[in-house]
Amino acid sequence: MRTQLYINGQWIDGIGKLPVYDPSDGSVIAEVSIAGDQQCNAAIEAADKAAKEWAKSAPRFRSEILRKAFELMTAENEAIATIISRENGKAMPDARGEATYAAEFFRWFAEEAVRTPGDFRKSPSGDKRILVTHEPIGLSILITPWNFPAAMATRKIGPAVAAGCTMILKPAGETPLTAMYIVDLMERAGLPKGVLNLILPEKSGPAISKMLHDPRVKNLSFTGSTEVGRVLIKEAADRIIRCSMELGGNAQVVIHDDADLAVTIPQLSLAKMRNGGAACTSANRIFVQRGIAKEFIAQMSKTMSSFVMGRGTDSTTTLGAYVSMKERNKIADLVDQAVAAGAKVEVGGVKPEGEGAFYPATVLVVQKDNPILLHEIFGPVAPIVIFDTDEEGIELANDTEFGLISYVFSSDLTRALRTAEAMESGMVAINKGIISDPAAPFGGVKQSGLGREGGFDGIHEFLQTKYIGVEI
Ligand code: NAD
Repeated sequence: MRTQLYINGQWIDGIGKLPVYDPSDGSVIAEVSIAGDQQCNAAIEAADKAAKEWAKSAPRFRSEILRKAFELMTAENEAIATIISRENGKAMPDARGEATYAAEFFRWFAEEAVRTPGDFRKSPSGDKRILVTHEPIGLSILITPWNFPAAMATRKIGPAVAAGCTMILKPAGETPLTAMYIVDLMERAGLPKGVLNLILPEKSGPAISKMLHDPRVKNLSFTGSTEVGRVLIKEAADRIIRCSMELGGNAQVVIHDDADLAVTIPQLSLAKMRNGGAACTSANRIFVQRGIAKEFIAQMSKTMSSFVMGRGTDSTTTLGAYVSMKERNKIADLVDQAVAAGAKVEVGGVKPEGEGAFYPATVLVVQKDNPILLHEIFGPVAPIVIFDTDEEGIELANDTEFGLISYVFSSDLTRALRTAEAMESGMVAINKGIISDPAAPFGGVKQSGLGREGGFDGIHEFLQTKYIGVEI
């Protein structure tokens, strides 16, 4: 298990150590190195020095490194899943799923690396040729959250390698071991030294701010909360650094009264409970039409009560621990406030005593003005609101500052499409609980972010367009 910083192809110590905890019992599983100013600067120096040669490297060369990384990650799925589960707390089925999903970004971008599009046209006036190319943007800072420590890293490293950018990865302090494993894997896949560096500053705020004011840094790709994203956009503004922002969600679900519950319940259960609800895509506000509400609440409550809470690596666990007591307590507080505001608890709702950052699967029936609907819960809590007309359901669903993903359930495709088109979100799932796919553009509107990761768009977060006008 790697526990050090990675700078210019070397694993090194920094200015101290940070403990990494197993959130299911609070024990320390490793101590990792912390970067000081000197290491952060050395990472910039290494990535800057490697940038020119790397940008000129053959796309096929970069593609083959990514393909090799995909193969290594696939072969080592169980080892990666175990590290994810140990430091993040999630159940092994979730961790294995994440490791597979994460590897797929390497496969997809291995295929994209050799297909960067360009354009060659005659100008409408006929006086020149319009030649459009896409060049690597250059040294990129990649900042990732704790909830998907593998997939959020590969969703950035994959396109950056494909595009020919050098990188400095800063993982979340709660889950650095997975990132360190992936960096080691990239080294084994043949990534040249300096192209990918890993730092873990003691205090992210000042360290990243300083880096964003360094003229060698050209691009910032951030995944995390809207709150931190907002701060970073302001920091990046001083030097007009390009930003890609994958931020928080408050996903809405609209269940029409003609929805097939045999499809809706299992799919919604995936949308709600993947990663124990600690996903930006997690179904956060569930609006169900009155005609089907009673049966839906009964069936959803039964499904939610079947989750088995426990240590992520135990074979019977389907709902692991949260990454920390602090995160777990935030969920418990939101539920307590919802209940104080009149929510009816159908299942769960009680914070367990004892060690371990656990919280049970919970179903609440709430009024449309309950405060829980304003927050990203990031846990296994399903607040349900009953609505009457389609118009009312759509209006309630869009009543949020966030716009990452929406879910629509209906047996009538025309009705489902009408609602899907009315959803103010970057992504909409129809009769499906998980639509994340490396081949699809992932991202939000409103305060859920800027830019797209994955799909044909993902590589463009690491490319800049150049137009060359040719006299002819
Ligand atoms: P967070 O914003 O607290 O932290 C994210 C990363 O930013 C971490 O690495 C953290 O150390 C770092 N960070 C914190 N403050 C910083 C600062 N001032 N300057 C620079 N870096 C700083 O988020 P989190 O709690 O780790 O993750 C949960 C959030 O991430 C949720 O809001 C979730 O919706 C969001 N998320 C979004 C997506 C997406 O694709 N849209 C995916 C996963 C998670």
